[in-house]
Amino acid sequence: MSEGSVSLEAVTKRYGAETVVAGVSVAIPEGEFFTLLGPSGSGKTTTLSMLAGFVVPDEGRVVMGGRDMTRVPPRGRGLGMVFQNYAIFPHLNVAENVAFPLTVKGAPKAEIASRTGEALAMVKLNGFETRYARQLSGGQQQRVALARAIVGHPKVVLMDEPLGALDKNLRYHMQVEIKEIQQRLGMTVIYVTHDQEEALTMSDRIAIMDRGRIAQMGPPREVYEKPETSFVAAFLGEANLLKVRRDGEAVRGPGGVALVAGSGALSAPEGLVFVRPEKVSVAAGPAEAAPNHLPGRILHASFLGNIVRYAVTAAEGATLLCDVANGAGTEIHRPGDAVTLSWRAEDSRLLAG
Ligand code: ADP
Ligand code: MG
Repeated sequence: MSEGSVSLEAVTKRYGAETVVAGVSVAIPEGEFFTLLGPSGSGKTTTLSMLAGFVVPDEGRVVMGGRDMTRVPPRGRGLGMVFQNYAIFPHLNVAENVAFPLTVKGAPKAEIASRTGEALAMVKLNGFETRYARQLSGGQQQRVALARAIVGHPKVVLMDEPLGALDKNLRYHMQVEIKEIQQRLGMTVIYVTHDQEEALTMSDRIAIMDRGRIAQMGPPREVYEKPETSFVAAFLGEANLLKVRRDGEAVRGPGGVALVAGSGALSAPEGLVFVRPEKVSVAAGPAEAAPNHLPGRILHASFLGNIVRYAVTAAEGATLLCDVANGAGTEIHRPGDAVTLSWRAEDSRLLAG
């Protein structure tokens, strides 16, 4: 069992009558970047806190490197941690902040100096050693917190919304930096975010949490393109979810148009067809009678620079979003224009309603 592997075995946590984490099981191999993604209140922080040792589960086990850690206190787990509000100490300068985990352990002075220098170099903060928090930008403070988390060369680092307070550009920059350090050190990172894009760009695997459970777990492209539920489909970006009904062997959508989906199944007479906006083609003129070809009318056209996002009304009041790349010579349809929407069967999926 490699030292950096982490697993949760049917872990449950209740507060009073509320079950906030309900039988979560996951096995994370060493070196994986694993993300818990979900809306506020879905149980991400509680799950991470059980990994950290701040919260003891009511049921189940926390295993790290093959050892049962369920009841081991945080300091016995040897983890690095970065939390959104885990501020750096205001009375310590940058070097002292970063050195802190080694200082409390009583590491030799020379080792502290060399490791602190190395960690600061990794987050590109050399030259900032003697500054205090009030003399640093939000992004720099976050990098100090990151350096402090990795200074002891932990096999496993936990991060709870570490970039939540940063603006978009800085966020992107830090995402790249964290990913780079993680790969360089071969660390297992367990990351919490409610930001879908952040989860998609950074993770090897994502677990989407919904009310204390893992709704789905898999690599970014798989969970994005093959959601198993309408919750996962809608949470991970924009999704068209069209009401459909079974008609003998066929599945029919708005206006009775036959829809053929590449995956999924209808377990009931009614359900949904899922297709992402960027998989829908928009052509001028009336629809030919073919599966997955819907007549519609442009409701809105939003010019977003690299793409044009259309809202299109189809039969029975269905509205679809369609993202069209603003490529060479792309014509932009106008509100009221009659259009045909179409998509490939393999880009759509049947889901329970
Ligand atoms: P997330 O991080 O996904 O936003 P949390 O794990 O923080 O979710 O919270 C999940 C649920 O558990 C929420 O309903 C929250 O109010 C509740 N909760 C979290 N911690 C406590 C606590 N110490 N006492 C009571 N309820 C809590
Ligand atoms: Mg949280």
